[in-house]
Amino acid sequence: MASQTQHAFSPIDLHMHSLASDGTLTPAALVSRAHGAGVRVMALTDHDNTEGLAEAESAAVALAMTLIKGVEISSVWHDQGIHIVGLFIDPEDQVLQEGLARVMAFRDWRAEEMGRLLAGQGIADAAEGARNMASSPMVGRTHFARWLVQQGHCSDPADAFARYLGRGCHAYVPSDWIPMPEAVAWIRHAGGLAVLAHPGRYKLSGTQLRALLTEFRAEGGAGLEVSSGSQAAGDREHLGRLAKELEMAGSLGSDFHGPDMGHAAIGRLLPLPDGVLPIWQRAGFALS
Ligand code: AMP
Ligand code: MN
Ligand code: MN
Ligand code: MN
Repeated sequence: MASQTQHAFSPIDLHMHSLASDGTLTPAALVSRAHGAGVRVMALTDHDNTEGLAEAESAAVALAMTLIKGVEISSVWHDQGIHIVGLFIDPEDQVLQEGLARVMAFRDWRAEEMGRLLAGQGIADAAEGARNMASSPMVGRTHFARWLVQQGHCSDPADAFARYLGRGCHAYVPSDWIPMPEAVAWIRHAGGLAVLAHPGRYKLSGTQLRALLTEFRAEGGAGLEVSSGSQAAGDREHLGRLAKELEMAGSLGSDFHGPDMGHAAIGRLLPLPDGVLPIWQRAGFALS
């Protein structure tokens, strides 16, 4: 049989951000843009909070789209910052919300600490500047990056990460996030499925990634993102093989942050490789 051309488009996109974290669109505008792109099933997965979900849900209902309620929790495993996406969560769940409040409190402290570190580099008032760049209580490095660019200290956000905000830079605060097992437990308590986000983006060897996934699965982790927005060649196939071998489900998501935020576009994704169990089937969702 002739090999099939694989188009980098998926009508299902289970990882994106709105103004409720470090995206640049309102939840309603994000849903509308996803609809316009041809996406029919989407998850909103803002960092460490679920404040955008109600607005996204209303917008999705109006457009006859399916919104899967999600969150992306900042977590840590053996000093390595990792992100865990929770899908199909109940945002009303108290255990989840108390947990997210702890992460947000660390974010607040970290923003002040980053402000102090930047002041030590001769850049004053950065924490306040970053808070002003944010449209919600969630302040992150992206907001610092935008402020550093606006103030003329950096040429673009990538430059801000390379010079100030990235791991090992002067304003980098070690990731004292929530240990992986706790993040998984909160997601499960909220009825959700825990998915390791963009596994190719961590500085982990193949052996370390396998160890992480094995522990993650033992804690109740359900799957991993096999197809991501900006992915190195071969990553999808490699992660697909890992998912099958470890009998974990596969998810896919663009990690879209906004129209002017780099290369990731909504739905610009290759499909899951053959034989990988889609995460929505784990959730009992029949998506056409
Ligand atoms: P935080 O969760 O506050 O530590 O910020 C992490 C966020 O920063 C990620 O979710 C991305 O949106 C963004 N980010 C990380 N690395 C870079 C980079 N090199 N250039 C631009 N944005 C980045
Ligand atoms: Mn982000
Ligand atoms: Mn992430
Ligand atoms: Mn993300």
